[in-house]
Amino acid sequence: MRSNGAMTDFAKTRAMFDLPDGVIYLDGNSLGPLPRAAAGRVADTISKEWGQQLIRGWNDAGWMEMPRRIGDRIARLIGAEPGSVVLGDTLSIKVYQALASALELNPGRKVILSDTGNFPTDLYMADGLVRSLDRGHELRLTAPDDIEAALTDEIAVLMLTEVDYRTGRLHDMARLTEIARPKGIITVWDLAHSAGALPVDLGGCDVDFAVGCTYKYLNSGPGGPAFIYVSPRHADRVRPALSGWLGHEAPFAFDLDYRAGSGIDRMRVGTPPVLQMASLAAAMDVWDDVSMRDVRARSVELCEMFITGVEARCPGLTLASPRDSARRGSQVSFRHPHGYAIMQALIHEGVIGDFRAPDIMRFGITPLYINETDISRAVDILADVLTSGRWDRPQFHKRAAVT
Ligand SMILES: *Cc1c(COP(=O)(O)O)cnc(C)c1O
Repeated sequence: MRSNGAMTDFAKTRAMFDLPDGVIYLDGNSLGPLPRAAAGRVADTISKEWGQQLIRGWNDAGWMEMPRRIGDRIARLIGAEPGSVVLGDTLSIKVYQALASALELNPGRKVILSDTGNFPTDLYMADGLVRSLDRGHELRLTAPDDIEAALTDEIAVLMLTEVDYRTGRLHDMARLTEIARPKGIITVWDLAHSAGALPVDLGGCDVDFAVGCTYKYLNSGPGGPAFIYVSPRHADRVRPALSGWLGHEAPFAFDLDYRAGSGIDRMRVGTPPVLQMASLAAAMDVWDDVSMRDVRARSVELCEMFITGVEARCPGLTLASPRDSARRGSQVSFRHPHGYAIMQALIHEGVIGDFRAPDIMRFGITPLYINETDISRAVDILADVLTSGRWDRPQFHKRAAVT
């Protein structure tokens, strides 16, 4: 991170991405774009490491340590202690693992509290875990604004996603965690739309568990591995729930019984995805001279500019995100009954955002590679698509599998 006062050079970070000509990419909240260095890094890993070193790569190319080494680079961006973050599996799996471990720290309680704004897979995984445990646990959902009132001493685990994937609404992690702790509630925070999007202070907030993905704001590429954080207060005593061999104290002793490894290493499960991690390592280089505070300040500026422009020029759209930037992550969403078709028309004209049912158009605002010129052009094109009625062509109403 740069020292005090030095400003992050966003022209430099933008030049580190390979964006197609004529495209304004406002979907980095769903899939980050390609860092220029990623293709070469993955090619080297394939030809020089896999190709030449073969199985020796596990030792000689440091493949086995990648989940921890890159975990430390992510730790810096989310206020986690060094040695407290490890990569592997997908986010759905890490949600399950964190929640299962968290529940075991609170054996006398049966309620998992979450909210109706959470991403469905987090809720589905919790529901599946409750059914497998078959010990009377309950997944309880409230509206996002009612979480605070629902934090009673009946709750075993508070499991929340900090930034709502649909609206960008931001929970107050510091406050909710502070209320939960003295009530004996274990916290699991999902940082899917936080890591690389805004400053997070896991250590400072005294969070118990956190999970997140790397293919959104961290730009690791489609299918990039997830990460998990366990507070150093718990790391040596949690049971990892998914007790795979690479979380074992001595994987290559091939013992018949499981003994958890030390610290965060125990949350590893199986063989790490080395090629995906090579592209993640290249993507993490972009963050070397970046301050998360600068990213946040710039993201707020660009979001405000986008909201002001759209509200002035596109009267049919209704802001779905909180108006107060302090309560919003790094995306802006608008509602429109024909949001799907309008988004398809926008994409056709080079402005890429996405759509979430029933009526939400999402625009991810990512200062590493988006600037004022992009925002103002995106507003121009959106206004033009709407006023011309070009969005209402049959081709834009046809639904694809991924929206
Ligand atoms: C994107 C996202 C996921 C995706 O999970 P995968 O297992 O990587 O498909 C899960 N949870 C939240 C909150 C997300 O935003």
